[in-house]
Amino acid sequence: MGDGNKFSRREFGALVAAGPLAAGLQAGSHFPRQRVQPATETTPLKAQPFPLRQVRLLSGSCYTLQDRNRVYLHTLDPDRLLHAFRLTAGLPSNARQLGGWERPDIELRGHFMGHYLSACGLMFSSTGDDLLKRKADAIVAELGKCQKANGNGWLSAFPTEFMQRLKERLPVWAPFYTLHKIMAGMLDMYRHCGNEQALDIALGMVAWTRKWAEPLSDDGMALILQVEYGGMNEFLYNLYGVTGNRDFLALAHRFDHARLFDPLAEARDELKGQHANTQLAKLIGAARRYELTGEERYRRIAEFCWQQVALHRSYCTGGTSNGQRWRTDPGVLASELSATTQECCCTYNMLKLTRHLFTWNPDARYADFFERAFLNGIIGTMNPADGMTAFYLPLESGYWKLFSLPFDSFWCCTGTGVESFAKLADSIYFHDDRGVYVNLFIPARLHWPEKGVFIRQETRFPDEDRINFEFQCERPVEMALRIRVPYWAGAGLTVTINGRPEELSVKPSSYGAIERTWQTGDRVEVRLPMSLHVHPMPDDPTLQAFMYGPLVLAGALGNEGLTYEMMYSDPTNPRRGEGMRGQPIPAPELIAPSARPGDWIRRIGDPSVEVRDVEVVAGSPGDWMRAVGDSALAFRITRQRRTLSLIPLNRIFGQRFAVYWRVKQA
Ligand SMILES: [Zn+2]
Repeated sequence: MGDGNKFSRREFGALVAAGPLAAGLQAGSHFPRQRVQPATETTPLKAQPFPLRQVRLLSGSCYTLQDRNRVYLHTLDPDRLLHAFRLTAGLPSNARQLGGWERPDIELRGHFMGHYLSACGLMFSSTGDDLLKRKADAIVAELGKCQKANGNGWLSAFPTEFMQRLKERLPVWAPFYTLHKIMAGMLDMYRHCGNEQALDIALGMVAWTRKWAEPLSDDGMALILQVEYGGMNEFLYNLYGVTGNRDFLALAHRFDHARLFDPLAEARDELKGQHANTQLAKLIGAARRYELTGEERYRRIAEFCWQQVALHRSYCTGGTSNGQRWRTDPGVLASELSATTQECCCTYNMLKLTRHLFTWNPDARYADFFERAFLNGIIGTMNPADGMTAFYLPLESGYWKLFSLPFDSFWCCTGTGVESFAKLADSIYFHDDRGVYVNLFIPARLHWPEKGVFIRQETRFPDEDRINFEFQCERPVEMALRIRVPYWAGAGLTVTINGRPEELSVKPSSYGAIERTWQTGDRVEVRLPMSLHVHPMPDDPTLQAFMYGPLVLAGALGNEGLTYEMMYSDPTNPRRGEGMRGQPIPAPELIAPSARPGDWIRRIGDPSVEVRDVEVVAGSPGDWMRAVGDSALAFRITRQRRTLSLIPLNRIFGQRFAVYWRVKQA
């Protein structure tokens, strides 16, 4: 940003500092658009993501899950979502209160509103669902009335007294965590739906926050940062990115957590004992700071933390945390299998972080990790029957997946869940000036208007290994199509262009680049053969998981003792409703007749069978089992005392399962 801007940052900053009214930013007013000058990223990104609206999912399981989520977003009643906000602002509301973490006596109430607005914004970009956009716009307008009634920029479903408690170090759950979600939701409504009032509201909230934080010394602020605060730094960096106002850059920095960042900047892993998701959200703020300021320190922080978590603190699924924490030294995971492994919010945040890192350094290893965590840790955490999502993915053998209730859970992970399933297409394609990166194999159409090209990816992957791309071009266009060759792709990779075989020598975890002049009708077919492989625990090689290509396989252990209620949140216990009600049934030990799993684990699913979308009626767990039993990706573990079947972890529902097995050599 040069000094030639019509409106100086200093002048704008002074207006905002003087409060929302002085800046003409009171709720309901329009933020003067000409004054918004986006900051330019200082760090040139080597790979750019495409705007979400340029990528459309096509028919397939991701599309189905996106649609389940879309329906859920439509189902939620605005008056119920607004209830506690209205009461806090002294406005009337006779709506029925929501349950779970949104209950009016739960201190995190209001957090879901922020996720909801983000999800609606993302979903509008993903699908163009105008009805949903209008619903979210109307909610923003109602929240504007609440903010106006509060009169000082404050907008929350709880009173400012919580912030006083935070300042006085009295017990309070995580008020900034909740405020961050609401502000981020407003920013997403601005970015995805062009809702300027949402930006006004966020600016009013920021002005309030700034005034609140102003008297605090750096030491005082350091104490505040000990309480979970979500991604306050990330949001404020993003706000700087959108407005170019350097005051937000300075305020964001007050939320950079030195105690977490300092050791990471020096490549020291002091994560043991820390609450995982609390820290991961801050790391995305570090990544944004690097992008906006070019300070290498923040790149080091983000990259080192990613490396430790993705490579040394994650399970075969790409997920991390046990009981929400990192409880061990890096590489120690065998002791960390429980009913509360890999909180879904952690996966959501690790994917966001991975996406940033990939844009700085488009290395296929980042995309490999993304695929692993996405397929196993996101896709499998929504119940395809009803669109409800999970808090944890239990990796101790013999547990089952537990889902939220539509109106009585509203966990943190319900919030990140509605976001995750509203942006399933956000990391399929990336680009630079010379061409496209294809990172994920999901049926999706890309529109790249600058090149005048549509690329349509059609595939039944992972049920089959064939992926097709078809070009539609306004005029012949010279560019590279770079297809990720994953770490798991074995020998036999083939590529044909318009039916003719193409020589492509590539090694796993890299890109196969096809550079040519493309024209309408050009077709590329890629085959990426998958194979069965073992993923042992780093600190105990006799504890093993089995994978097929990128998919973690789960042993289907049946539904003994399970009831329908046990698969959902406990509505009577809003604070701890994510806990399992029931005991696990341990998985048997396996005897391995050979070191090659392919010798004794056989694929039984018929790959030629057209896979049914898991079209499950909310009925007995037995119905769910039958549906997944048809999986073309079913395997049988042979030569054991009892018959055991494996199916992809992301397709196992309504029954007990095992991911890690104790394996003894015969
Ligand atoms: Zn969570």
